[in-house]
This record gives sequence, structure tokens and C-alpha cells, in this order.
Amino acid sequence: MSLDERVALVTGASRGIGRAITLRLAQDGARVAVNYHTQQEAAEQVAAAICQQGGDAFVIHADVSQAPQVSAMMEAILERWGRIDILVNNAGITRDGLLLRMKAEDWDQVMEVNLRGAFLCTRAALRPMIRQRWGRIINISSVVGAIGNAGQSNYAASKAGLLGFTKSLAKEVASRDITVNAVTPGFITTDIVDVLSERLKRQILSRIPLSRFGSAEEVAHLVAFLASEEASYMTGQVIGIDGGLGMG
Ligand code: NAP
Repeated sequence: MSLDERVALVTGASRGIGRAITLRLAQDGARVAVNYHTQQEAAEQVAAAICQQGGDAFVIHADVSQAPQVSAMMEAILERWGRIDILVNNAGITRDGLLLRMKAEDWDQVMEVNLRGAFLCTRAALRPMIRQRWGRIINISSVVGAIGNAGQSNYAASKAGLLGFTKSLAKEVASRDITVNAVTPGFITTDIVDVLSERLKRQILSRIPLSRFGSAEEVAHLVAFLASEEASYMTGQVIGIDGGLGMG
């Protein structure tokens, strides 16, 4: 799948799934803006790895929940490359807890990064995509947004919100050849999963038909496909990548 000449922005690209997606899009030929929030060094390593392979990438700081920072990020991309073709809304956080004990700030923070962040980045990317009459928007939701998870009501609500967002936007922009799809990973081995206790990990594994956690690279393959020309007839879709955990 060739993404030659395409320009991509991956939010939360310093670590985990975002990092793997960034490296994969670059491997397929895209020029990639590597967004980070706190981990500048890690983001710089991602960009350096791409440039060493002959690709084109630069790091860009922005808290995706802050509108002025998102606008500045998009301006920097347009100034450098003059276009934006692929947006992967990947930045996400968890603030887990049972609802009765959940602080309002924990609810708000998760909504702000996971849902408002996707809204702000998409709004900023949409105008140039409409001008170009081509775009790919890929929202990283979660299986938890579809099936729920005790202790993650805030996170699940944010990820379910992304699904409604995906489908509504897909209908709004389809006439401009912009596709909008969501990916719902199950448990993928990254920092988010590493913090779970061994007991909880064993419990989760027993519910996954493929009996293992997924890798960030497996998610990246799917995202690269959705970003490609080959996925041109797919929009408004929610695609699971979860070892079978979320099947009905
Ligand atoms: P991770 O390893 O914890 O990485 C999170 C990334 O998001 C980091 O690059 C972080 O940047 C960035 N980020 C956090 N807050 C941000 C903000 N306000 N503005 C910009 N970037 C921000 O997470 P992950 O496991 O790779 O997850 C990536 C996405 O996949 C998330 O949306 C997550 O909900 C989703 N997901 C993950 C799993 C899983 O099992 N891992 C399953 C389903 C869905 P810094 O490092 O620079 O702070």
C-alpha cells in the first residue's frame, strides 16, 4: 500500500499504538507529523527513526484538548507540507475508578483528551481536506466503548462517543471524498495495559478467544489500510481488532 506524497498527523505518536502507527505510515511513504504531549524525547526518537530510513517527519507538541495548541499544530503542518491527507486521532488517556468514587475531574479529563481532542483535531484538519477533496480520518476508539468495562465508565463513554462522532462526520463529508472510520482495539500491549495487575491480566486473557494481547503493530497494519487508496469505499465503519473479545 503506497502512501507516497500523503501527509499524515498522528496524535499521541510518542508511545504505544500511536508510535507504531506513525512508523508504519512512514514506512508506506507518508510524511508524518509526530504529535506528543509530555514525552518529547520519545517523540524525537520516532521522528529520527523515520528520517534515518529516508522518510520525512517532524515532532510537534500540542495538548489535543487545547484549541489554540491544536490550531498552531495544524498551521505548522500546513506551513511545512502545504496539505494534510490523513489524521489519526489516537491520543488517549484513562482515569479508571468505580463510578461512585469517580472524581468529576477524572471524568472531565478523559472526555477532554479522548473526545474533545478528536473533535478539535478533526475540525482543524477538515478545511484543508475539503479543499483537497481527499482525506482519511481514523479514530482510535476501543472495544470498551462497545461492550463496556467496570471501572472505566468515563473511558468507555469517551470511546463510545467517538463511534457516534465517526458515523455522523462520515455522513457530513462523504461527498468530498473524505472517509471517516473508527478502530476498536481490544487489549494491546502498551503502557496502558502494562499497569494492570497480573491477576486482572489473567482474567482478561481468559475472555479473549485468541488467548493473547494484541501488538501495537497489528493495530498499525489496520490503520495503514484504512489510510490507503485501497480503503476508498469504506466510511463510517467501526472495525474491531481485539482477538475476538468484542464479538457479539
Ligand atoms: P499510551 O501508551 O498510554 O500512549 C498515549 C499517547 O497519548 C502518548 O503518546 C501520549 O503522549 C498521548 N497523549 C496523552 N494525552 C495527550 C494530550 N492531552 N495531547 C496529546 N497527546 C496526548 O496509550 P496506547 O495504549 O498506545 O493507546 C493509544 C490509543 O489507543 C488511546 O486512544 C487508547 O485509548 C487506545 N486504545 C488502547 C488500547 C490498549 O490496550 N493499549 C486498547 C484500546 C484502545 P505523551 O507520551 O507525549 O504524553
